[in-house]
Amino acid sequence: MTDAPGPRGAHLPGFATLAIHAGQDPDPLTGAVAVPIYQTSTFAQDEVGSTRAGYDYSRAGNPTRTALEQAIAAVEGGRYGYAFASGMAAADTYVRAVLRPGDHLIIPDDAYGGSFRLIDKICVPWGLTYTTVPLGDLDAVRAAMRPSTRVLWCETPTNPLLSVADIAALATIAHDGGAQLLVDNTFASPYLQQPLALGADAVLHSTTKYVGGHSDVIGGALVTDDAGLAEQLAFHSKSMGAVAGPFDAWLTLRGLKTLAVRMDRHCDNAEQVVELLTGHPRVGRVYYPGLPDHPGHDIAARQMRRFGGMVSFTVRDGQEEALKVCRRTRVFTLGESLGGVESLIEHPGLMTHASVAGSALQVPADLIRLSVGIEDADDLVADLRDALD
Ligand code: PLP
Repeated sequence: MTDAPGPRGAHLPGFATLAIHAGQDPDPLTGAVAVPIYQTSTFAQDEVGSTRAGYDYSRAGNPTRTALEQAIAAVEGGRYGYAFASGMAAADTYVRAVLRPGDHLIIPDDAYGGSFRLIDKICVPWGLTYTTVPLGDLDAVRAAMRPSTRVLWCETPTNPLLSVADIAALATIAHDGGAQLLVDNTFASPYLQQPLALGADAVLHSTTKYVGGHSDVIGGALVTDDAGLAEQLAFHSKSMGAVAGPFDAWLTLRGLKTLAVRMDRHCDNAEQVVELLTGHPRVGRVYYPGLPDHPGHDIAARQMRRFGGMVSFTVRDGQEEALKVCRRTRVFTLGESLGGVESLIEHPGLMTHASVAGSALQVPADLIRLSVGIEDADDLVADLRDALD
């Protein structure tokens, strides 16, 4: 973005304006309003070492990816953004950029299973040590800090139990101990929560989810406002090469443009679904940060714009019953992933979190996770009511 979009003067552009315009000026050559897909691996040089627009090879940089990187940085309130081939590629690049063998990190005890697996199965053999902690318990977090702790890894709300952590308090603990705070903001999306403004050093996204929003692309992103960290991330992004391809970057950028309106609808629909579940005799516990009796409700109300589109719940009659409900929905599709326009239902114990069974991470066997989409709320409520009957 050459100039901040919107009215001239002191007025600062809002979230939706940034999502649509940041990094996305009309193409200077043709005037194309949509950022072109620069599907090229390399770029002509006029003279040895003299590039036309700073691009020489698409692993190092590509204009479509740059547009996405600038847009995602703008909506997270950071100056530096990096786009990757997946959320896990972003996570791995962050780990290699920031941590060295011998370092220690802290991760939530109900972190996304893939993040836990990356750390437990790949980073530990590489030489890292880690401690899992319930991030809602700040005394436990303080107690887990060691002189070698370099990263406090936060996910809030968490996948799949929707625990909420106090980002500002965690930032203080991390910084007091000489560590960084990384926040996986996938579940909230930048529209609902902006961790950098609360003191986080870096933000991680699986853009596969709400940012992309249409279940048609896998991607990841890292954003920071710290120039030193940005230099490390840029170097590791280029050197490790797990970057977003031009078409994937373009799809993700297209999704980002409508994030604000989609997220409000996800939240509206989730609230209706929660209303059904909380009063239903077959339902045990409902996990949703918007519920006043959710242990993280007050923190979520403080640090999130709204409470999101993810809802988890247990059924009263155990795992078999939970599986039956997953099989019986018609509008909610049985499937992994989340954050798309269509509603999804899944059984974390046997699906997304199966790989962490038996580890420190405990997912109830009768837990069902919903990604509430943006269909008509009445249809979603009727579908769940039928499946529970
Ligand atoms: N972080 C969270 C919270 C996730 O839910 C996921 C995927 O489900 C990831 C990271 C990994 O992202 P990806 O599947 O795009 O690699």
